[in-house]
Amino acid sequence: RAKSDGRGTYRFFEARMGAEVRERRLLEHDLRHAVARRELELVYQPQTEIGSGEVIGFEALLRWRHPERGHVSPAVFVPIAEESDLILQIGEWVLREACREAASWPRPLSVAVNVSAVQIHGPRFVGLVHEVLLQSGLAPHRLEVEVTETALISDPNRALLTLRQLRALGLRIAMDDFGTGYSSLSNLRSFPFDKIKIDSSFVRSVDSNEQTAAIMRSVLGLGRGLGLPVLAEGVETAAELGFLAAERCHAAQGYLMGRPSPIGHFSTHTHGSSAGAEKIRA
Ligand code: C2E
Ligand code: MG
Ligand code: MG
Ligand code: MG
Repeated sequence: RAKSDGRGTYRFFEARMGAEVRERRLLEHDLRHAVARRELELVYQPQTEIGSGEVIGFEALLRWRHPERGHVSPAVFVPIAEESDLILQIGEWVLREACREAASWPRPLSVAVNVSAVQIHGPRFVGLVHEVLLQSGLAPHRLEVEVTETALISDPNRALLTLRQLRALGLRIAMDDFGTGYSSLSNLRSFPFDKIKIDSSFVRSVDSNEQTAAIMRSVLGLGRGLGLPVLAEGVETAAELGFLAAERCHAAQGYLMGRPSPIGHFSTHTHGSSAGAEKIRA
């Protein structure tokens, strides 16, 4: 009896896995044409300096409008693109598009671009970034590359070399999703980061949860000790922002200040005069 149950369970998993593999193959197939068919677009989310309330830059976030499925989340398709090396082509498009866009802003705000492990470890990444900066005319210090620590650990020596070469081009490097990897502290020491982006899981309810508050305070202390600004990700409530302001966190990003949106939505920041800029604090 137990035996037949086991087999039934196995068949169930086999069928489900089959469906998942098929699903991934279908998405991968469609993704192969997504750049050429102009189905990808970038949305932008403001990054705000907490002390002044000023927008200091935008993070570019990738969106895929699938012709039949509609909007597919990057949390779904970026991992598929990474497994198939499609991320090289897609990542190049993201970099070119974000730099071209930011170069058209009259105000010298920064633009942050997410870069995956496959790109960092690819042979031509530094050359590509150099070429894109020249071609777009974007001042290198306005470009920020966001990497997660998991992107670095497969080949730390190579990653270190790449990050150093990127910095030599004049751009900045942010550690994304800080705290979610498994050796965040040693990675902070080993790699040349310019900014810490603390993951939204440490920001959520930071105003009401004592443990979360203690972790946030120590990360802010760490940032101060290392001379690195800390940006809090995923700020959704005024209470969370109030806590971060009281603890002198440098910058914040989240739905409270603005959802990722087409850049036209932010024209007061990227193209208008400073008179139009909203303040997040009185
Ligand atoms: P990430 O780089 O950590 O981006 C932050 C994610 O948090 C974004 O999800 C953003 O929309 C979401 N977010 C921002 N504020 C809030 C908030 O207040 N509340 C909540 N609940 N969420 C918020 P998104 O756009 O779905 O992107 C997911 C992940 O996909 C990104 O995480 C990044 O790892 C990856 N990704 C996005 N665009 C690119 C890209 O161009 N290249 C690569 N390699 N990865 C990308
Ligand atoms: Mg990011
Ligand atoms: Mg993040
Ligand atoms: Mg992330």
